[in-house]
Amino acid sequence: MSEPILSVREFCVDYLTADGPIRALDRISLELKKGEILGIAGESGSGKSTFAQAVLRIAAPPALITGGEAIFEGKDLLKMNDAELHEVRWKRASLVFQSAMDVLNPVLTVGAQIRDILRAHTKMTRAEETARANELVALVELPKTVLESYAHQLSGGMRQRAVIALALSLQPQLVILDEPTTALDVIVEREILQSVLALRARLGFSVIFITHDLARMLEICDRVAIFYAGRLIEIAPAAELRDDPKHPYTRKLLTAFPSVRNQASGWGGIPGSPPSLAHPPGGCRFHPRCEVAFADCSDREPPLIQINEQHKAACLLLEPEL
Ligand code: ATP
Ligand code: SF4
Ligand code: MG
Repeated sequence: MSEPILSVREFCVDYLTADGPIRALDRISLELKKGEILGIAGESGSGKSTFAQAVLRIAAPPALITGGEAIFEGKDLLKMNDAELHEVRWKRASLVFQSAMDVLNPVLTVGAQIRDILRAHTKMTRAEETARANELVALVELPKTVLESYAHQLSGGMRQRAVIALALSLQPQLVILDEPTTALDVIVEREILQSVLALRARLGFSVIFITHDLARMLEICDRVAIFYAGRLIEIAPAAELRDDPKHPYTRKLLTAFPSVRNQASGWGGIPGSPPSLAHPPGGCRFHPRCEVAFADCSDREPPLIQINEQHKAACLLLEPEL
């Protein structure tokens, strides 16, 4: 579990808008170990999806990667040309988006879409493709008939399973799940997440799991990273984050967050709202909402402070006294 499969350093992404660039990710550094499940949590607009897409170079304009590196299996994704990226996407790393409907092609059956991916990336014979397609739907616990179905003929849960089957079709080593179950009901969500975990245990891939559901995230993930307004403000093993959070924002998230789920609409219960990224507050971006803010907080950006080997948090209160 110790070797990183993905190592992101000082990663910056801007959205180029008519009013100038908006920095959506600001110098994010984190690592994902082989076989690990890393959660990313934060309010709406904190940059979670931007991270998921930009790190795999899927983010479309106006998003622009403006700095940093993302070393995946020893190579910088940010320096890869199209041919190299083609070798990585689907095959080595894949992304399951927030909405399955945006991924499935409405005019192709699920089977045809699986075959398209296999054809684009492998030299399988037709018979091998069919065998693999059958294996994949079985893997995500769907009936074989789904291969002949179009997206609109499937329930939300089945569609999301089909998308997960597509994402796993070439047995990638990294799977990024960006709120894969947000639109589904609680029972279906639980079932799907359990299948993904069982698959991971069997196939050994690493996972980045993004969700609004902090309780679920703490249950499932090995480590959790908290984003606030485009910055990484805390990262720690899940149990340590739950029992001993160091950043005032993380503390707020944990107390504001009921043990039951608090879906899609956001975190609720945290007073104020996240800052506009077009005009972020100076110093600590959380200072206008922070109950323990002090004079320095509006002037000085807190660095990520190493609490212990696996735990970091960015708050001026954590700085050792001089
Ligand atoms: P959610 O929880 O709602 O999915 P998120 O954490 O995934 O939110 P992102 O979708 O990554 O957040 O958006 C991060 C920020 O990037 C937003 O706050 C927004 O300011 C900016 N942003 C996203 N898309 C665009 C765009 N097309 N043009 C300009 N700014 C954008
Ligand atoms: Fe609150 Fe200041 Fe810490 Fe930011 S640096 S979280 S404003 S105490
Ligand atoms: Mg998102």
